Amino acid sequence: MTTVDLGRAHAWLADFAASIRENATLLTDLDRQIGDADHGSNMERGVSAVAALSADDFADAGAYLKRVGMTLVSTVGGASGPLYGTFFLRFAGALPEEADAEGLAAALRAGVEGVAARGRAAEGDKTMVDALAPALRAYEESVAAGVAAALAAAAEAAASGRDATVAMVARKGRASYLGERSAGHQDPGATSAALLIASAARAMG
Ligand SMILES: [Mg+2]
Repeated sequence: MTTVDLGRAHAWLADFAASIRENATLLTDLDRQIGDADHGSNMERGVSAVAALSADDFADAGAYLKRVGMTLVSTVGGASGPLYGTFFLRFAGALPEEADAEGLAAALRAGVEGVAARGRAAEGDKTMVDALAPALRAYEESVAAGVAAALAAAAEAAASGRDATVAMVARKGRASYLGERSAGHQDPGATSAALLIASAARAMG
C-alpha cells in the first residue's frame, strides 16, 4: 500500500496550514519569551504560500513536497525557513515512489537528520530536533504495526519532546543568548514541529 501519495501529502500540508493558523498566537507568544516574537507570523506566511500550491500541478508526492520545501525556504523568515525547507527537501528526496510504512520511515529519517545537520543541533539543545528526533524513534519502533500506529506513536513522542523543552537551557538559536534564563519556557520551534507530526498522523495515519 502506498502511504504517501500526492493526495495524502497535500492533505498533510493543508492540515499543517490550518494547525499553524490556529496556533499562530501561541507560537508568537512562546517566541516572545525566548526569541523575537515572530515564529507565528513567519510560519503563517510560509503555510499560506504552501496552501496556494495546487496538487494538480505536480506529477507525484516527491515533486510536490520538494516544491513545499523550496516555498518554505523562500517565505518563512528567520532560522525556521531553511530548517523547515531542509526537512521537506530531504524528505522528498528520500521518499520512494511507492512508499509503504518503511518508505515513510526512510523519508522521515532523512528529513529529521537534515534539520539536525542544517541547525547543527542535537537533542537537548532546545530546538525543533527535540520534537522531531523522538518522533522519528517512535515511528521506527512502531513501524511493524503499520503507518497509522507508527504515526500516532510519533505524534505522541513529538508532543512529549516538545514538553521536555520547557526545562532545557537553549544551546542553539536566538534563545541561547539568554543562557540559563531560557529554562522554564517551551521552545517555539519544537512546538511547531510537534504540530507538523500531529498533522502527518491525522492526514496520513
Ligand atoms: Mg523568531
